[in-house]
Amino acid sequence: MLNYDLHSHSTVSDGTLSPDALVRRAWSKGVEVLALTDHDEVAGYSRALDAAGKLGVKLLAGVEISVTWGRQTVHILGLGIDPENGMLLRGLAQLREYREWRGEEIGRRLEKAGIVSAYEGALRYRKGDLLTRTHYGRFLVGSGAVETMQDAFKKYLLRGRPGYVGGRWATLGEAVGWIHSAGGAAVVAHPARYGMTRTKLRSMLGEFIEHGGEGLEVVSSSHNGNEIRTMGQHAIQLGLAASRGSDFHDPGNRWVELGRLPAIPRGCEPIWERVELGGYSATPTKISVGG
Ligand code: AMP
Ligand code: MN
Ligand code: MN
Ligand code: MN
Repeated sequence: MLNYDLHSHSTVSDGTLSPDALVRRAWSKGVEVLALTDHDEVAGYSRALDAAGKLGVKLLAGVEISVTWGRQTVHILGLGIDPENGMLLRGLAQLREYREWRGEEIGRRLEKAGIVSAYEGALRYRKGDLLTRTHYGRFLVGSGAVETMQDAFKKYLLRGRPGYVGGRWATLGEAVGWIHSAGGAAVVAHPARYGMTRTKLRSMLGEFIEHGGEGLEVVSSSHNGNEIRTMGQHAIQLGLAASRGSDFHDPGNRWVELGRLPAIPRGCEPIWERVELGGYSATPTKISVGG
């Protein structure tokens, strides 16, 4: 089976490698099919195509859409999308507009909590146009306010902490709709990371399926062996296809590497077998999403 890594970030969102450097690293780690899935933005795809074509890495256009479900933020991956689809692009542009306001609001709140020039500080860590909590985290570590990214999130950026701003992202239905309108497959990212009870997770996945969502990211760098098994069982019971993605952001994080992931558990149907994710590789052709 090919080495699929269907979740990764570049400098277009909160990754530290440019889109083409990301492709080169994926190639050097043995990845054969890579999806670039920046948060709420698809602009990295065209910048990564050249490197992918030269190295023979099959590159899928992707996106990781921020969704508000109840009081929670959930991430929905769009895989094999047409990065020029108007409906998708308009939806993502709205999210980025909210993100801009929210980025400044996080800064104002951190300022009140005693972090001087937080917004300007976070901007210094931004390499694209998009500002995320990751950039605030890097600034908090870089300025010595905290020692690790984990501490930055735990002390300042998670819900209930001074820099947290409750999300007003897309709805689940909007995210799945935009992805489908762009010809892609919708996959719930890192499902074990939401801290949901089993009941709550099943209810969210039920809604996701009603909207026509296809997949669950069973294998993720942020899942331990137990979580992979549990999420694999959810996928099988609910008839969702299984995806595999590192959620790579930064070569400096030695716990997360491109392409270095366990296989999809036995009994799960890989998303690439259920759905043809072929379309938008080096030579754009029409995509087809099967049932
Ligand atoms: P945002 O979309 O601005 O809320 O930022 C979310 C990003 O923050 C995620 O995609 C992760 O890259 C990062 N993140 C979230 N939680 C943590 C955590 N506990 N430690 C490190 N990074 C995190
Ligand atoms: Mn991220
Ligand atoms: Mn995510
Ligand atoms: Mn991600």
